[in-house]
Amino acid sequence: MNESVKLYLFKKQLEYLEKKTGKGTELISLYIPPDRNLADVMNYLKEEYSQAANIKSPRTRKNVQSAIVSIMQRLKLFNKPPENGLVIFAGTISENNKEKLEVFLLEPIDRINSFIYRCDSKFFLEPLKQMLTYKRDAYGLLVIDRSEATIAILKGKNITIVKHIESNVPRKHGKGGQSQRRFERLIEQAAHEYFKRVAEKAKEIFNSIENLKGIIVGGPGPTKEFFVKEGYLGELTKKILDIVDTSYTDEYGIRELVDKAEKILKEEEISKEKKLVRKFLEEIARDGLAVYGEKDVREAVENGYADIVLISEKYEKYRVKIVCKNCKYEEYISSESIERVEREILSKNCPKCNANTLEIESYKTIIEELSELAEKTGAKVEVISTETEEGMQFLAFGGIGALLRYKV
Ligand code: ZN
Repeated sequence: MNESVKLYLFKKQLEYLEKKTGKGTELISLYIPPDRNLADVMNYLKEEYSQAANIKSPRTRKNVQSAIVSIMQRLKLFNKPPENGLVIFAGTISENNKEKLEVFLLEPIDRINSFIYRCDSKFFLEPLKQMLTYKRDAYGLLVIDRSEATIAILKGKNITIVKHIESNVPRKHGKGGQSQRRFERLIEQAAHEYFKRVAEKAKEIFNSIENLKGIIVGGPGPTKEFFVKEGYLGELTKKILDIVDTSYTDEYGIRELVDKAEKILKEEEISKEKKLVRKFLEEIARDGLAVYGEKDVREAVENGYADIVLISEKYEKYRVKIVCKNCKYEEYISSESIERVEREILSKNCPKCNANTLEIESYKTIIEELSELAEKTGAKVEVISTETEEGMQFLAFGGIGALLRYKV
C-alpha cells in the first residue's frame, strides 16, 4: 500500500481511538518495542494484575483486571513483536450509557522506542500521534572524505547507520622527485579503490530501500564533489538531491547532514504533491488524460486505465455495502454519513424481493476502498494534503481525481 494511504488510515485509527473514554482510570495503553522479550512483558502484566488488587473502587478494580487479562490473551498469539513493535489498547469503554470491554491492536507506522504501560480514563496516543508529524519517505545518506565514509538511511525521524568504511589511502607527503610521483600514483590508485568500495556498498544499501526518495551526500572537503562528479554511484547519481558541507564523516557527520538537509527534505515532499496536482489540473483544463469525481475515478480504476488516483485527505466519504437479509440482494453506495444511510434504508424496501429487510453489512472510507481496488488494477493512490495551495485547490475541485494511462 502506498505510504500516503497508510499514513491516512493510521491517522483515522488514532482519531477513532481518541474518542474512547472510560468512566474511571481503567483504560490501558501498552507500547512494546520490537526488541522487547514478550515473556518479560507477560511477567510485567502479571505484576500489574496483582497490583490492581489494591484499587479501592471494586468496579474499577474489576475493569482494570479484565483489561489486563484480555491484553495477555492477545499477546499469547505472538512469538515476538512485529517489525515496528506492537501497541495494545484495552479497557471498558463507556459510550451512550453502555459499557463494553474493547481491545485494539495496532502495528505502528514507525518503530516504538520505549516500553510504556499506562492506565488512564483515555488511551495514551501521544507517541503514535508524533509519528504523524514527520515525513515518511526514506532517504539515503552518505558522508565521505578520503579517510572514511559512513552510509545511513533516514526514515521518518529515524536515522539508521548502516555502514562505516575506513580507507587505507595514505596521506600525501613527500620528498619530491621520481619516487614522489610514483608514490602519488599509488595513492590515487588506493583512493580509487576506496571510492569504488564505498560506492558498491552505498548502491547495495540504497537500492534495497523501499521508498527511496533521494540521496544526500556530505563531507568536509572537495572529496564529496569529486566522488559524485566522477559518477561512482552510477544510476543512483540521478537520485542525489543535494551535496552539503559537514565537519565530520562519522555518525556525527550523518547527523549534521540531516540537520542541514531538513529544508530540502521538506520541500521535496511538498513539491511531489504540488507537481501531481498541477499536472492533474493541466490535464483537466485541456480535456486530456485526467478525470474527476468519484464515479469517473472509480470507473477508471475498475477498468485499469487509471494511473494515479489523487484523493484529498479531507475527502470524507464512505463506501457502504448494503444487503437484504431476506434474498441476499446487495448493493454499494457512497455517502458522507453512515447514519444517514442507516436512516434511508430503514424506510426503503429491497428492490429485488420488496421486503423491508435491508441492512448495512460493512463500510470503509472511500480512500481505503479505492486503494484496495487500485492495488488490483495496478493504479497508485496518493493522498493529497491540504497544507499547500495546490492541495486546497484540489479539494475545491471535489477532492478526488485520477491521472489516466490513456484516454477512453
Ligand atoms: Zn431482498
